[in-house]
Amino acid sequence: MIIAANIRKIKQQIPKHVQLVAVSKTKPVELLMEAYHAGQRAFGENRVQELLTKQPLMPDDVEWHLIGHLQTNKVKYIAPFIHLIQSVDSLKLLETINKVGEKNKRVINVLIQVFIAKEETKFGLNEDELHELLVFCLNKPMQHICICGLMGIATNTEDKLEIIKEFNYLKGIFDNLKSNKKYEHILSSNHFNLLSMGMSSDYDEAINSGSNIVRVGSAIFGNR
Ligand SMILES: *Cc1c(COP(=O)(O)O)cnc(C)c1O
Repeated sequence: MIIAANIRKIKQQIPKHVQLVAVSKTKPVELLMEAYHAGQRAFGENRVQELLTKQPLMPDDVEWHLIGHLQTNKVKYIAPFIHLIQSVDSLKLLETINKVGEKNKRVINVLIQVFIAKEETKFGLNEDELHELLVFCLNKPMQHICICGLMGIATNTEDKLEIIKEFNYLKGIFDNLKSNKKYEHILSSNHFNLLSMGMSSDYDEAINSGSNIVRVGSAIFGNR
């Protein structure tokens, strides 16, 4: 009941064009089903094993998002069904996803995770590494991945100005890539459209900075 109310409340707060991904990590399938019955279809998990446990227990029309660090040897387990891998943080991982996508006869949607926080612990590429990765893709087109956008996690801080600065920084990179003629062929504007920023504590700021996917866990399911 409370989960449905939480989802309704968040959906009222966010504009129509912003997609809400319900981050269900550590939560049991019964609670995910509560969200499902409230109309929620996009769910985010950060661990492959947990995703693989829950996926067969949930209805087929759930869109699964992987939002945590992914090891190359685990790509094959999620490749048949994953809707969006939001956390691609290396060229090696991108190449693996492409290869496994080919085996599965699928084009797998990915976001490149960009490091925007002040913390040392967060995964993601810096701006130079992002360009290196894209230049590599220019020279070796990968037919079984779609680079649909960027994802970033802001610093875990009370300092809203810092958070907004980080979101604006990522929005700047995103806009830059979108309008960069050099990358036209791999980031054709039809596909490169997703900017995933914002969690329970900062999705308002993220949306104001241009996010169009928010990944919300505790504000829906309660504290972990
Ligand atoms: C856990 C997690 C979230 C959701 O965090 P909440 O603060 O519970 O909303 C969002 N994004 C990523 C990458 C996460 O790991």
